[in-house]
Amino acid sequence: MKEHLIDNHVHTELAYCSENMTVEKAIARARAAGLAGLTFTEHAGQLYFDRKPYWGNVWLEQGLDGAEAAHNRMPAYLELKREYESDFARFSLEVECDARGNLLLKPEDRKPFDWVMGTIHALSGLNKQTPPQQAHLDQFLFLVESMGKAGVRVLAHPMRIFRRAGWEAPEALFEPTAKLLRQHNVAAEINFHTNEPPVEFVRCCLDLGVTFSLGSDSHNLAEVGDFASHIALLREAGYDGELAEILVDTRA
Ligand SMILES: [Zn+2]
Ligand SMILES: [Zn+2]
Repeated sequence: MKEHLIDNHVHTELAYCSENMTVEKAIARARAAGLAGLTFTEHAGQLYFDRKPYWGNVWLEQGLDGAEAAHNRMPAYLELKREYESDFARFSLEVECDARGNLLLKPEDRKPFDWVMGTIHALSGLNKQTPPQQAHLDQFLFLVESMGKAGVRVLAHPMRIFRRAGWEAPEALFEPTAKLLRQHNVAAEINFHTNEPPVEFVRCCLDLGVTFSLGSDSHNLAEVGDFASHIALLREAGYDGELAEILVDTRA
């Protein structure tokens, strides 16, 4: 069942939110689960910023200029990549954009990676007190488009930002987001980590020919390669063909 599946979203011991992850154990776990491979995608923002400014979303307004060189842990991640990368275990990054649409990734740090995954972890002014306004929707689409233009291969947990803030994902975003993904050849990630992806958005992506990426977003080893919900969601959205035909090939 899983022999052709790759988990394209796995965190490492360097994640501030890691529970028990290590690259070594995650690889063993993925092999035991019968996956075809896994991709480590550490948060670039967490590698550049110390915990407090990272969780305070300092990067959203200040971009990379707000990062202090003394906190840079990208070399430690590259060291893990050097030590553990193989045909089975690949390394990528989960990368935010700042509010101006710049990828939070230094060009020289992008070079060692075949592809990177874009992600939206904050929108200016969106929180549990303020329901999504048109300005948030506009900012969301601006960030999706910015990441598309920057050439990200996958968009992590596309609508999760709204759920995290305590709101339903705005349906008005489903079609324009799927169109941008298709236009820029970005795969939509299916991700259930603290998330419940809207089936209507998946349906919209299927209709427009957007590809998908499966991600456990593992912060705990027990999560690696657990795709039962992911596959059930694709079926619920109406896809009854071979999974390989709609999944992005991140190894190509
Ligand atoms: Zn994320
Ligand atoms: Zn993640």
